[in-house]
Amino acid sequence: MKALPLYLNGQWVHTHTKLGVVNPALGEQFSEVCTLERAAVGQAIGDAHKAFQQWREIPGKERGEYLEKIADELERRGDDIARTITLENGKPLAQSRGEVGMSVDHLRWFAQEARRIYGRTIPHQVRGKRHLVIKTPVGVVAAISPWNFPLVLALRKVAPALAAGCAVILKPASATPLCALALAECIDAAKLPAGVFQLVLGRASDIAQEFLDNPLCRKITFTGSTEVGRMLIRGAAGQIKPLSLELGGHAPILIFEDADMDAAVEGAIITKFRNTGQSCIASNRIYVQKAVYNKFLEQFTKKTLAMKVGDGLEDGVQIGPLINGEALNKALEHIEDATRRGARLLCGGKRIDRKGSFLEPTILADVPADAMCMSEETFAPVAPVCPFNTDAEVIECANASPYGLAAYAFTRNLDRAIRLMESLEAGTIGINDSVPSTSQCPFGGVKQSGWGRELGIEGLDGFMETKHISLGVHI
Ligand code: NAP
Repeated sequence: MKALPLYLNGQWVHTHTKLGVVNPALGEQFSEVCTLERAAVGQAIGDAHKAFQQWREIPGKERGEYLEKIADELERRGDDIARTITLENGKPLAQSRGEVGMSVDHLRWFAQEARRIYGRTIPHQVRGKRHLVIKTPVGVVAAISPWNFPLVLALRKVAPALAAGCAVILKPASATPLCALALAECIDAAKLPAGVFQLVLGRASDIAQEFLDNPLCRKITFTGSTEVGRMLIRGAAGQIKPLSLELGGHAPILIFEDADMDAAVEGAIITKFRNTGQSCIASNRIYVQKAVYNKFLEQFTKKTLAMKVGDGLEDGVQIGPLINGEALNKALEHIEDATRRGARLLCGGKRIDRKGSFLEPTILADVPADAMCMSEETFAPVAPVCPFNTDAEVIECANASPYGLAAYAFTRNLDRAIRLMESLEAGTIGINDSVPSTSQCPFGGVKQSGWGRELGIEGLDGFMETKHISLGVHI
């Protein structure tokens, strides 16, 4: 098996070191990709810096046209790329297709935004002066992305950075480099100038150190765990390197007695089990008001038991494998811990006896607040459910987390909905909505879920400097 090349300065480059890519549905390696040493990353940053000098001069509209071409290519190859996502990540094929669709939409959104990078003029208070605010691209951007949405989360960085006029170096997760390679192929097909986009892979800590230490790398945008985010914050101190951080989450979902119960159950299924529970905005704590608690559990369990688990390439599969054995063991530990502390296991709870890292979709009821799954991300199809009495009590429980990425609520009471949107501590709040993310709205976390926002008009901000120009005018 020949290791696939990386994409550096407009060339496909083979190296002598490589990384294996495993299909989590089978637990078997099926591909290999070349890797780099730290020095080569330094070279990539230097090349990106040169490419940046030209890319920034291209008018926004034209940069947007390049992004449209990448989107066209991604769309044309959509079926193949969706299959690649499923092969390396394990998610059901229908969800991989959805991920490709959303990636195309992100590209088209930022293609349009590239021509709307506005400054402003500000009235002066001293005669003979004029004040302008202009936006300029930050320079070379390093993007580090995770494996759980390997294509779309890379694009939430790459697309706005390119639109803003920056050059980008992408370091995808080691578990899922093939989607990033497919993206590089689309960018190559769109004929972006050499060096404007590059793809590196290798030891994450070495690559990140080069991003942190190299003064030509002006910005790091990271999506991943809060633990690694914290390490980057420490490392950024040396050069005061700007960081955008999309970190972990522990979303609560609040189901009130006045909710449309069918919609609430469906919402809990989608927010919990999408991507096999491996989503940063997955609902990790399901709070249900006492009066409808048993009814909810009954319907939720029935729907969960009906979900088809299997290889994501099989027809109709809704739950795939976990990314690896370590993830499976962590989920089993959370289940064991919760039941030991008194939670009732309503369904699932065991590893499925087949190749790959499959877990039965699991529901735990009456989970005590001190169970591990109530504070740590389980990142698996494990649904902890707890009863509550009052609005004040559930809002306090929902906010009692260091994370603040997403929150959900199901209610038909408008006053309550407004109170919730104002008091829940999360960057994204879905009220009677289980799929809140969309290209044109900002996405990001509060508290330890991160710094900055992706998507929306805010999605470009992190890739631009704001400059005030004070102009002396002789009139
Ligand atoms: P992770 O272990 O933090 O890895 C994310 C990325 O960081 C990967 O590319 C990884 O590379 C790299 N990395 C690992 N160690 C590093 C280091 N010392 N310095 C710099 N980079 C390093 O997270 P993950 O397991 O892939 O993803 C799951 C986590 O991401 C969860 O906590 C989830 O909530 C969070 N997440 C957040 C969002 C959001 O938008 N807020 C979205 C998705 C996921 P290697 O793969 O080579 O180790």
